[in-house]
Amino acid sequence: MNDPSQPSSPPDPIAQEILRATAGSRKLYGFNDTHDPRTPADFWFQESDEGRILFAVFYTQACRWSRCLGCNLPTRMSQHPVGFRLLMAQVDALFAHPDVMICSDKLRKVIVSNNGSVLDQVTFSSTALIYLIAKLNLHLPRLAVLSLETRIEHVEIEELEFIARALREGETPTQLELAIGFEAFDNRVRNDIFRKGLQLHQFENLCRTIARYRFHLKCYFMLKPIPGMTADEAVSDIHRAIDYLSAQARACGVTLNLHLNPTYVAAGTVLEQHFRDGTYTPPTLRDTARAALHAQGTPLTVFLGLSDEGLACPGGSFVQPQEGPIVAQLEAFNRTQDYAILRSVAGL
Ligand code: SF4
Repeated sequence: MNDPSQPSSPPDPIAQEILRATAGSRKLYGFNDTHDPRTPADFWFQESDEGRILFAVFYTQACRWSRCLGCNLPTRMSQHPVGFRLLMAQVDALFAHPDVMICSDKLRKVIVSNNGSVLDQVTFSSTALIYLIAKLNLHLPRLAVLSLETRIEHVEIEELEFIARALREGETPTQLELAIGFEAFDNRVRNDIFRKGLQLHQFENLCRTIARYRFHLKCYFMLKPIPGMTADEAVSDIHRAIDYLSAQARACGVTLNLHLNPTYVAAGTVLEQHFRDGTYTPPTLRDTARAALHAQGTPLTVFLGLSDEGLACPGGSFVQPQEGPIVAQLEAFNRTQDYAILRSVAGL
């Protein structure tokens, strides 16, 4: 109960916006308001054909969109603002972590996430972003690519130009990449059912714009992101996506990576309700290989996301018991882009 002797703080309109979007998408999860805001939400390493990658998830106010059907990434975030001092402390904590320090001269790529939009200045402080870039230049002498996860509506080309200019001051030339969530190619699946809120013309404008600056693009797709899709329909949606992205890459001359995530059943979402009543099952690793095989001979590179980041409900992962060796094969594909591996996993 409120103490009437204390002045009550005004409600945060951004937190209300997030709560409204969450409730409107029938999501049942809460936020992580007990996390130490001086440490990142999480970080891990990946191996790809680009070399060793540091994937850093900073702890900020949650994604303002918060509507996508199968997404519970905001559960790791705060519903309240996280100011620039705290976010800068997270940057310091990341670069002081022994696991990062020990491989700082080997890191070739950093992907920056806040499980939302790093370029949304409302939830991710600009001061902290500039500070992060300064730290990258100071601590990662071989950094080749900086990737920023964002929704398209937060992209401002002047901001990207400034970031790219700062990155050029590092010891190694560092390319700027934008990482965009696309999730599904079919318009109805993507926007009417999954509620991504992404139109093809927005994406095509972005491709044309960033091609002029030679920035790179990473596009996240999900295999079988909604209930009511057969395995063949899910694979076919990714094949259409690959054809579309390849055409964009050729037309605009943009360097494009397809990041394909087999869908896990995210706890607290509508997808979990369908999983529990038997109307949704996650895709298989074999179908993931079948989907990605279509990229052979295209201008695209492919990275397969093989972790549910601990966000799947019990039994809701796409990896079945005993499938560790298949995961290892797909990780080898991520490092080599050797399509013979995918053919072997797909049983072709
Ligand atoms: S998928 Fe991305 S944009 Fe959609 S709700 Fe999740 S974090 Fe937000």
